[in-house]
Amino acid sequence: MINAQTAYVAIFGNPVEHSLSPQMHNAAFNHLGLNLAFLAFKANKAAEAAVAIRTLGLRGASITIPHKEAIMGHLDEVDDVGRAIGAVNTVVAQEGRLLGCNTDWLGVVRALEQVTELGGKRCLVLGAGGAARAAIFGLQNSGAEVSLMNRNQERGHSLAKEMNCIFVEWQSWDRLEIELLVNATPVGMSATRDQTLISAQQLKGGMVVLDMVYRPLETRLLKDAATAGSICVSGLEMLLHQGVAQFEIWTGEEAPVEVMRQALVESLANETN
Ligand code: NAP
Repeated sequence: MINAQTAYVAIFGNPVEHSLSPQMHNAAFNHLGLNLAFLAFKANKAAEAAVAIRTLGLRGASITIPHKEAIMGHLDEVDDVGRAIGAVNTVVAQEGRLLGCNTDWLGVVRALEQVTELGGKRCLVLGAGGAARAAIFGLQNSGAEVSLMNRNQERGHSLAKEMNCIFVEWQSWDRLEIELLVNATPVGMSATRDQTLISAQQLKGGMVVLDMVYRPLETRLLKDAATAGSICVSGLEMLLHQGVAQFEIWTGEEAPVEVMRQALVESLANETN
């Protein structure tokens, strides 16, 4: 029951209406009986989100597309990891100051660690946007060897240089002997749901494949990977674990992981009904 003591957390982005964060976090708040509620707001500018967080006295916020980079300039502090990745997806208010950090990389690492060890793994990240940056940081931090491929070669080269990993061309795939693949592009989502950047023949038994796309839950890439005998990790697991880390930052409580996963699975199932 919302009352005058209820504290609020909100997600800011544009678009934001398809976000599953309200269902995931409200399920967790309710399960633990916390007097907290999670809201979603469309924000045209990062600056407006920062003003709203301060003015409304929110406990914290989740920041999504397209504000993860721009929000950094409107906070009182960004932690070292947020600065290394160059993006903030989580804000926490502490004594009137807004602190920014990033939990997307933890989402990648924790989702993958459920099925494999990351140390020493030869990994390939597809994409050079904010999600790719978080994946590269997380994999490198876990001791993996990371290469990246990107459609726009200039952007790919530039990110590879900045993050000290190897930029590879699409035609080099066969020489790479990749053990772990992360799709950090939107290919496979909605209008491109039958598309994949990696053909079925390129996937192998025992390879680990994480597709960050979770609409649909089983993307074309993951279907092909399952057929090839690869170990599949859904983007839903990344979404869940970045949310688990956020929950723990905002509340200081251990997150009810299974309750949060169930809320995500049910929300996605309801969308297709
Ligand atoms: P972004 O900053 O816009 O970057 C998109 C990347 O995808 C760019 O490198 C772009 O290449 C590439 N790309 C886009 N369309 C492509 C196409 N048709 N063919 C080849 N490459 C293409 O986006 P982002 O924030 O990094 O997010 C990427 C994806 O991850 C989105 O689908 C997002 O929903 C998902 N995501 C999931 C989670 C999760 O929790 N599961 C978390 C964060 C993000 P160019 O540089 O050539 O344009």
